Amino acid sequence: MVSQPRTAVIGAGMAGLTCATALQAAGHQVVVFEKARGPGGRMSTRRQALGEGEVAFDHGAPAFTALEADFQAQVQFWSLQGLAAPWPAAGPGQFVGVPAMNAPLKAMAADLDTRWSQTISGISRDAAGWRLAGTTQDEGPFDRLVVAIPAEQAAVLLAPVQPKFADLARAVHSAPCWTLMAVFDQPVQSAEAVLTGGEVVAFASREASKPGRAATEAWVIHATPDWSRDHLELTVDEAAPRLLAGFEALLGSSAPLAVSAVAHRWRYARPLAAPRPPLWDAASRLGVCGDWLGGGSVEGAWRSGFEMAAGLLP
Ligand SMILES: Cc1cc2nc3c(=O)[nH]c(=O)nc-3n(C[C@H](O)[C@H](O)[C@H](O)COP(=O)(O)OP(=O)(O)OC[C@H]3O[C@@H](n4cnc5c(N)ncnc54)[C@H](O)[C@@H]3O)c2cc1C
Repeated sequence: MVSQPRTAVIGAGMAGLTCATALQAAGHQVVVFEKARGPGGRMSTRRQALGEGEVAFDHGAPAFTALEADFQAQVQFWSLQGLAAPWPAAGPGQFVGVPAMNAPLKAMAADLDTRWSQTISGISRDAAGWRLAGTTQDEGPFDRLVVAIPAEQAAVLLAPVQPKFADLARAVHSAPCWTLMAVFDQPVQSAEAVLTGGEVVAFASREASKPGRAATEAWVIHATPDWSRDHLELTVDEAAPRLLAGFEALLGSSAPLAVSAVAHRWRYARPLAAPRPPLWDAASRLGVCGDWLGGGSVEGAWRSGFEMAAGLLP
């Protein structure tokens, strides 16, 4: 019996999980390593305890588009499973995960061998294959390794083993995004559930306007890339009131009382780079994929992960 290649994937965002899912479907043994406690990456869902209940925020990507036929088919598949749906309040062609943005990723992860809370701090190769330095123990050997993490973080891991790939990653710069997750005690007075275009706040959305969400008056508020860059080193407590003020400026009126207002800094929110094929070093069997090779979007991350896997299949 021919044994199937054993592949490690670092990163359980859209790119890594798409790649791992496609490889496993083709019979490969795949293990996914993720530093967070669950899947999603920049499509993750943040939950906050509030009173006796819990409020969920899509605090990364608020929505995604499906521009090409291959990803449209994937989104249709998720929609048939009840994992994604259009979000009309954000305009035509905008989709979200259901009941939360991370739903399609959770579904993919459920079928995979995943190791949560495992930050990979180093990768190396010897005669037996790839070895990973994890949080609690070293992992490996693996026949193949796929790195599916943001460019700035990939550059650090890749530098000792594949300097050329590291240089490519280092050349990519991601725009940061300060985000506020706010719950108000009354409905915000706004005819629109999605607001855009402020000087401080670029985008704000009422979570309840998305399909399958609770009716809580929860809003996700994203600062502009420029404001985020200029205020990158604020603490979360310093950022929260400023983002709230920026939201009121966008509204053009006072917001109701915020019973909860928690800020989050995405240091590497959206890479600024043209799409290019995933990277593959046949000699060492090292692959790299992610949104920074896919044009900086959910769809780009999906395609990069999918193309990475397709390139590894016979
Ligand atoms: C605020 C914000 C708004 C956005 N808006 C949109 C939008 O409107 N439309 C759109 O299409 N896209 C949007 N995006 C971008 C979109 O979310 C990303 O392009 C996409 O989710 C990236 O997927 P990925 O798999 O490439 O990376 P990620 O989602 O970042 O996944 C990488 C994973 O690797 C993990 N990881 C990193 N380093 C390590 C390590 N050393 N060891 C183990 N695990 C590690 C991370 O924890 C993460 O889970 C937005 C993103 C943000 C943050």
